[in-house]
Amino acid sequence: VANEKESLFLVSEFASKYFQDMLLNSEEGKAIALSYFKERGFTNDTIKKFSLGYSPNQWDALTKEALGKGYKLEFLEKTGLTIVGEDKQFDRFKGRVMFPIQSMSGRVLGFGGRILTNDKKAAKYLNSPESDLYHKSKVLYGIFHAKQAIAKQDNCYLVEGYTDVIQMHQAGIENVVSSSGTALTPDQIRLINRLTKNVTVLFDGDAAGLRASIRGIDLILEEGMNVRVCTFPDGEDPDSFAKKTPLQDLIQYFEDNAMDFIQFKASLLMKDAKNDPIKKADLIRDMVASISKIPDRIKREVYIKETSRIMDISEDVLFNTLAQLVKKDI
Ligand code: ATP
Ligand code: MN
Ligand code: MN
Ligand code: MN
Repeated sequence: VANEKESLFLVSEFASKYFQDMLLNSEEGKAIALSYFKERGFTNDTIKKFSLGYSPNQWDALTKEALGKGYKLEFLEKTGLTIVGEDKQFDRFKGRVMFPIQSMSGRVLGFGGRILTNDKKAAKYLNSPESDLYHKSKVLYGIFHAKQAIAKQDNCYLVEGYTDVIQMHQAGIENVVSSSGTALTPDQIRLINRLTKNVTVLFDGDAAGLRASIRGIDLILEEGMNVRVCTFPDGEDPDSFAKKTPLQDLIQYFEDNAMDFIQFKASLLMKDAKNDPIKKADLIRDMVASISKIPDRIKREVYIKETSRIMDISEDVLFNTLAQLVKKDI
């Protein structure tokens, strides 16, 4: 019911305001959470812009506050903010810094919450559960603050995490969104596609980031969009990199290092294929498989020729391989 959805928005927006208030005005929040954000280099303006918050380290701080203000337990439960047990109810988010996840139009859909330590045993991030508001496969963190810049720059940077989006904004690059830890989905890519056809993937400089970039490429190509990839030095992510790099150097880094997907695949895989003919053959097949995802036939042909050139293999054999993969239309 439309009415019920509105009730879910209202309670989510109340929670967001409450978490912000706790961050900025409670002793606990100021002492451990605001200082955490400051240590990460976030300014007051950034904290306000992204409505960052803090969930007190108590059983039911938010739930009690919301019930006292007249919000119904039913809606607190349906957003996942409150977990209702046998004889008591308690907050999902406790003692975490809070990142509200906003829709394209700026409404609060759900939250990501991070623990304040780097304790490897605890789950670092906890997100809202699926609800009538929050469908994790359909949202992109940062889209509300990025949409104008994406359209204007006609390009979208895609990063992995909340703090990557925020740090890039603070550095002065606003056309950036994050899939926030879920494997990229077609629905997320379609959200970007409404604003631009050009995506630059900026995933973490680690094995997981590399794997995620490779998976993301084919999905983006399938939507008929153009993909570039820019990698980071080992152990860096856009947050850590943007934090220590002046804006002009950051822009220069992206200009110098962003590669078209086909060059990215070639360069990446050439590193371990080197002189191994079998690996090289696998790699070429993999490049053609990506090309086969491109809906536009002319673009496919351009990329086949490019692959032929950089991998030093005949166009004929590549077109034959492509034809097996694209049975319709060729
Ligand atoms: P930070 O800089 O705060 O340590 P990060 O964004 O660099 O965080 P990564 O480990 O690179 O964190 O993960 C990327 C994204 O994946 C996170 O921003 C978060 O959205 C999601 N994520 C990471 N760990 C978890 C987890 N344990 N549960 C759910 N989501 C997670
Ligand atoms: Mn990572
Ligand atoms: Mn990261
Ligand atoms: Mn990080």
